[in-house]
Amino acid sequence: MKLPETGRPAPEVLDALEAMRAQDANWRDGRTFSLVYHGGDALLGLLKDAFFKYFSENALNPMAFPSLRRMETEVVGMVADLLGAPEAVGSLTTGGTESILMAVKTARDFARSRGIEHPEMVLPISVHPAFEKAAHYFDVKAVHVPVDADFRADVDAMRAAITARTILLVGSAPAYPQGVVDPISEIAALAASHGLLCHVDACLGGMLLPFVRALGHALPAFDFQVPGVTSMSCDLHKYGYAAKGASVVLYRERELRKHQFVVYADWTGGLYGSPTMCGTRAGGPMAAAWAVLNYLGREGYLRMANSAMTTAKALQAGIRAEPGLRVLGEPHASIFAFTADNADIFVLGDELAARGWNLDRQNNPNALHMMITQAHAGRVDDFLYDLRAAHAVAVQHGPATSGAAAMYGMLGSLPDRGMVREFILDFMDGLDRT
Ligand SMILES: *Cc1c(COP(=O)(O)O)cnc(C)c1O
Repeated sequence: MKLPETGRPAPEVLDALEAMRAQDANWRDGRTFSLVYHGGDALLGLLKDAFFKYFSENALNPMAFPSLRRMETEVVGMVADLLGAPEAVGSLTTGGTESILMAVKTARDFARSRGIEHPEMVLPISVHPAFEKAAHYFDVKAVHVPVDADFRADVDAMRAAITARTILLVGSAPAYPQGVVDPISEIAALAASHGLLCHVDACLGGMLLPFVRALGHALPAFDFQVPGVTSMSCDLHKYGYAAKGASVVLYRERELRKHQFVVYADWTGGLYGSPTMCGTRAGGPMAAAWAVLNYLGREGYLRMANSAMTTAKALQAGIRAEPGLRVLGEPHASIFAFTADNADIFVLGDELAARGWNLDRQNNPNALHMMITQAHAGRVDDFLYDLRAAHAVAVQHGPATSGAAAMYGMLGSLPDRGMVREFILDFMDGLDRT
């Protein structure tokens, strides 16, 4: 590729962009169950308007744009209040990964201030890979522990994994794979009894669980109301229905957050202080996040959560009614996974894909994943109809012998995980070759 010698007219450029999306996942019609959290067309319009209003603004310098500083303070405050600690402090970040990176970096530097040089954190295997990334970037050792038969963190295993170098225990609310909330009260009590930090990753559930609870669904305690929880992450661009690029990291104590910041007083370009990973901080996602919280309000989020829960329960009932299909664990909200005891679940996944339904595949155990929002509300009957047909084909078919299903099954069960890592690396490396 070369930069074009001369430019093209704007309409032509925009048409070319439009044409490129022909093969993209169809998220508008409720046929995709990950990646896009669609709050409906009216909300989407508001997000775009708000985003464009602050399209060029930059929160890097909080003195230049007091508007963005105010939005950040208000958004962080609203989320802190929802999560049980109105007095908590935090930062707006670009996403769950950045929020988690910040929480781990903060824990590491807090530990360093207390003389712990080679820190470790204890992670149930169900936590998001962003913790792996944090371990990698910040040189904190990730110590993995199993989950129980219900897919929730095994707290005894966490206790056994604590050493003199442990700085942080992590739980999820809920964890992405099976949508179950870890026993946060037990994890936080364990952390407190050892003088450790405790992070609750509510990237997925932070803007959902408070409303699910208010609707009367049974939920274990998961937020700052639990003594011993010291930090939390909560994505706005998931169940907050904000534009992509918005998440919050929160600390119960202001003192702790200071370890997150990076300052440099000796630069020849001026005094420099940066709260998060990014230098330039885009105003658009901040404005869109502020806009959606004010547009929906508590009432709107309750409505969205109710729609997602009703739809998820109907889908789960339909899946459970199909002999041989099984929902994994007892999902706490509108995220869940299911598997098949009488068919290859990845053949079923391919059959669903052939019928226009995009479900993510997961391993250990093998399953298909569903993240439900209001966008899926009208889709239950269509989906269950196709599911029954796809399941019948998969039962007939037997184990996958070729294609994506066979490959996914094989990669999931290979005992040599090094080979699988090589495969993923080669795959990523090859993406720009064709
Ligand atoms: C999505 C997710 C993350 C990471 O968030 P990104 O916005 O994708 O970086 C972290 N934890 C959980 C539980 C998630 O679902």
